[in-house]
Amino acid sequence: MGLKEINDRIAKAVAEAGRVPGSVKLLAVSKVQPLERVEAVLEQGHRVFGENRVQEAAGKWPDFQKRFPDAQVHLIGPLQTNKARQAMELVQAIHALDRPKLAQTLARLAQDLGQCPDLFIQVNTGEEQQKAGILPADADEFVAQCRALDLPVVGLMCLPPVEETPALHFSLLAKIAARNGLTGLSMGMSGDFEQAIAFGATHIRVGSAIFGERVKPA
Ligand SMILES: *Cc1c(COP(=O)(O)O)cnc(C)c1O
Repeated sequence: MGLKEINDRIAKAVAEAGRVPGSVKLLAVSKVQPLERVEAVLEQGHRVFGENRVQEAAGKWPDFQKRFPDAQVHLIGPLQTNKARQAMELVQAIHALDRPKLAQTLARLAQDLGQCPDLFIQVNTGEEQQKAGILPADADEFVAQCRALDLPVVGLMCLPPVEETPALHFSLLAKIAARNGLTGLSMGMSGDFEQAIAFGATHIRVGSAIFGERVKPA
C-alpha cells in the first residue's frame, strides 16, 4: 500500500469527520520490518515511528537518528520497569502506561533524568484477561494517581479485542478521555484507522498497511 496512500486515506477520513486538517498523527509502526523498508519511509519524509520493544528500538533508532535527527520514536508496546530508564532516554512518547508500579517507576526516573516522554495510559477497553491495561472502571482513579505523581499524561490508548467491532472501544476510550480532560487518543491500526479517526483518534498506529506484512511475528 505505502505511505502516500495511507496519508491520502487519513486526510480523507479527517475531512469526512469534519476535523481540523493535520489533527491526526501517523505513527509508522516499524517493528520487525527490514531496515531498508524503514529507511525508504524515512527517505519519503516521514518522521514519526512506533516500536513495540525497547531492545529492538535501541538497536535501530540511534543509527537512523544520526542521519535523520528529527525522527521520533514512540514506544507502543508493554514496558518492563527494568527497561524504563532506557526507554525514557530513547523515545519521545510511551503509549502503554498500564499499571501503578510503572507509573511510580517513571515518576522516580523523571525526577532523576529531569525529563519524561509524553505518556498515554493504556485502557483495557475489552476487559480481556490476557491484555495489559487499566480497566475502564479504574481509569479515572489511575489518571488522578498519575497526575499526582506529576507525570505528563497526554492521552489514552487502546487495543480493541480482535474479534469485536472496534467502534464501541474507540467511543468508550474517547468518553473516558473527555471526562478526564485528556485530548490525546492513541487508537486505530491498519485495519480500522479510518473508524478511529471518526471517533477522534489523534495518534494512529499503522504498520503493515505502510510497510507490508511483517515477515517475522512481532
Ligand atoms: C503492531 C502494532 C500496531 C500496528 O499493527 P498493524 O496492524 O500492522 O497496523 C499497532 N499498535 C500496536 C500496539 C502494535 O503492537
